[in-house]
Amino acid sequence: MYGNGYYIKFTGKGINKMALMNDNFNNLVANYLFAEIAKRVNDYTKAHPEADVIRLGIGDVTLPLAPAVIEAMHKGVDELANKETFKGYPDYDGYEFLRKAIADYYKTKNNVDISPNEVFVSDGAKSDCGNIVDIFDKDNTVLVTDPVYPVYVDTNIISGRKILYADSTEENGFAAMPNKSIKADLIYLCSPNNPTGSAYTKEQLSEWIKYAKGQNAIILYDAAYEAFITEDDIPCSIYEVEGAKECAIEFCSLSKTAGFTGTRCGYTIIPKELKMKNKSDEDVSVYDTWYRRQATKFNGVSYPVQCGAAAVFSEEGQKQIKENLSYYQENAKIIANALDELGIYYTGGKNSPYIWLKCPNNMGSWEFFDKLLNEANVVGTPGAGFGKNGEGYFRLTAFGDREKTKEAVERIKRLKF
Ligand code: PLP
Repeated sequence: MYGNGYYIKFTGKGINKMALMNDNFNNLVANYLFAEIAKRVNDYTKAHPEADVIRLGIGDVTLPLAPAVIEAMHKGVDELANKETFKGYPDYDGYEFLRKAIADYYKTKNNVDISPNEVFVSDGAKSDCGNIVDIFDKDNTVLVTDPVYPVYVDTNIISGRKILYADSTEENGFAAMPNKSIKADLIYLCSPNNPTGSAYTKEQLSEWIKYAKGQNAIILYDAAYEAFITEDDIPCSIYEVEGAKECAIEFCSLSKTAGFTGTRCGYTIIPKELKMKNKSDEDVSVYDTWYRRQATKFNGVSYPVQCGAAAVFSEEGQKQIKENLSYYQENAKIIANALDELGIYYTGGKNSPYIWLKCPNNMGSWEFFDKLLNEANVVGTPGAGFGKNGEGYFRLTAFGDREKTKEAVERIKRLKF
């Protein structure tokens, strides 16, 4: 290899320069979780075609978009069909009507003052959680909790950053807390958590904020499941906690909140006061840098989708999405009640669509997966797929059909452990 980064391939006919891959991709750990689940379920259904297999492992919603959303999207499409109201490229950060609706939602729901000019509308929280790494130096150290939503880990591996882990375990209710002896620059927190369903209290978030500020770190706060929070002492936004605006970015999504998994829409809040440093030790605006990044690589979310998203925050829209959320919340309660009856330890279910349970009799995650599939024809997600602390645990979700959820739970209750 030559110092200028090109491989020189001798072909005998001349010299071909070859494109070099980003070597960091070789550091990704192959994640066979969902492929392996699909394989085992396929093998089982092939051998038992009569089996009625119920899937309680899915992380996708099953209820349709709310009528207010559909109506707003139709109206948006009609406007595009008319020369007078046609719209071309949207703004990089989203239409003002949607950014204002989001800022109003923060004020009404959380009593948090966010300016519409601190909101970035996007095609979902996964993109933003993944793309945000563009604005940070490669030499930052990243802290994630374990078990973890794999996007935080893989996007930083691809960028070549060092990753440290904070343990979420039964001892801390699967809600990892900071260890002051660990130095980190970027801290990913997800509350309510995927996969563990745990949610941080104000006091716990306050500790994280103190920890982050103590070392000039930035918290990357994923609030994708905030709409599932039912308890008063659990904040829906990190900005409900004092000091967060100077150290946190918040990501949110309409995917699970309002059934936008297929439609695609999310948003990211970057307070104007949030700063990072450049190599000359000067303060740099995180908002301005992210705006520059988006202007370079992103051309916005389609107009009809933004119309539908704004309808989510209308009075009618909020009423309608709450009906869907209650449906999932009731499913979560049905699963949680069954685990209570069986005396099985779990987290989540109360402020989250995820129920994270300890596999009975110290079974391994995959051992329990096979037992559930073979003996109850129920499919869940082995916790081992989310990190080392997930081994011995298992994730069930509340996004399924009500009757099927009830049936699955009855089958689990009949199992002999
Ligand atoms: N963040 C977490 C923690 C998630 O679990 C998910 C989806 O499963 C996302 C983000 C992705 O959200 P979106 O559909 O908006 O990309």
